[in-house]
Amino acid sequence: MKNILVTGGAGFIGSHLCTRLINDGHHVVCVDNFFTGREENVAHLRGNRRFELLRHDVTWPLPLAKVDEIYNLACPASPPYYQNDPIQTTRTSVLGSMHALDLAHQVKAKVMQASTSEIYGDPDVHPQPEAYWGNVNTVGPRSCYDEGKRCAETLFMDYYRQYHVRIKIVRIFNTYGERMLPDDGRVVSNFVVQALRNRPITIYGDGNQTRSFQYVDDLIEGMMRMMATDDDFTGPVNIGNPREFRVEELARKVVAMTGSSSEIVFEPLPVDDPRQRQPDISLAKEKLGWQPTIQLEEGLRRMIAYFKQQISIPSTV
Ligand code: NAD
Ligand code: UDP
Repeated sequence: MKNILVTGGAGFIGSHLCTRLINDGHHVVCVDNFFTGREENVAHLRGNRRFELLRHDVTWPLPLAKVDEIYNLACPASPPYYQNDPIQTTRTSVLGSMHALDLAHQVKAKVMQASTSEIYGDPDVHPQPEAYWGNVNTVGPRSCYDEGKRCAETLFMDYYRQYHVRIKIVRIFNTYGERMLPDDGRVVSNFVVQALRNRPITIYGDGNQTRSFQYVDDLIEGMMRMMATDDDFTGPVNIGNPREFRVEELARKVVAMTGSSSEIVFEPLPVDDPRQRQPDISLAKEKLGWQPTIQLEEGLRRMIAYFKQQISIPSTV
């Protein structure tokens, strides 16, 4: 049994990670300020003596705790949320990473950063391998997230080189699944909720931009495998599903799978919205023996079933 700290553990991905770690027999401390996370996301773990929930903002130093591993997930990930208070978003990525790294340094824990495909920006290399440095606007509305995450990667590598902290960096590509908020604002949850409510499906731009969608269970498996690698393998490593879809294709798939009467409407494309996104997962295959196993149709089926239960909750989406 390991003692494991998960920042952002009450969020969408964090709650799945905490559940997996508890099921594997570990002791888990979940740290969250509930900005986009919810206590309900980890309600099923509350009675477990190996689970602790701590309300804490990671822009403040983490309490000293004897932990073996830290997963640093705290950071809003959906554009409307991370752009709501952009300075707090950068503070969360940069200061939150430093605090996770400082704790890892003090107690000699291994620490993983939840980085993102957004560090590639609007990529002009396709698909994106880890060696690609990216094409990121430093001064746009997405920059607080993209540059915050890029700086976090720098900090992780510098703590590794300077202090020999055992670090891991995963670059996560668009991930969806149960426990996303109905009003999360990201495309898969938006389309599923809109379709189930028979409300207009909002495609931003012409719908020809692409994303590669990964189901959350595949991501959790990839992160666990990465944490277990030898100390000399730091990453960054891409974790994503290489099947690439146009946003309009996704919309039509969701309408068909839900049997919705929703119409598709086209709205303005947000500033700096990346045109394409597809992971090159050769490194994950080689180093982690990992590749995704759940394809979009199966993941959507599970997500639609989940949101059918949630849909009685009123929302503005
Ligand atoms: P999420 O918004 O559901 O989860 C983020 C969690 O962090 C929430 O519980 C939120 O309350 C918490 N948080 C935010 N600011 C905090 C702060 N200052 N102090 C403490 N807690 C704070 O998003 P998610 O999709 O679960 O993403 C989790 C992590 O994975 C994020 O770091 C995100 O950048 C990264 N990621 C996610 C995706 C994706 O597609 N879901 C893709 C790339 C990277
Ligand atoms: N998108 C859309 N309709 C929505 C939400 C998002 O067409 O209701 C588009 C968005 O403009 C982007 C893609 O879907 O091109 C993925 O958006 P998301 O916010 O999920 O992820 P990110 O842009 O961060 O990859």
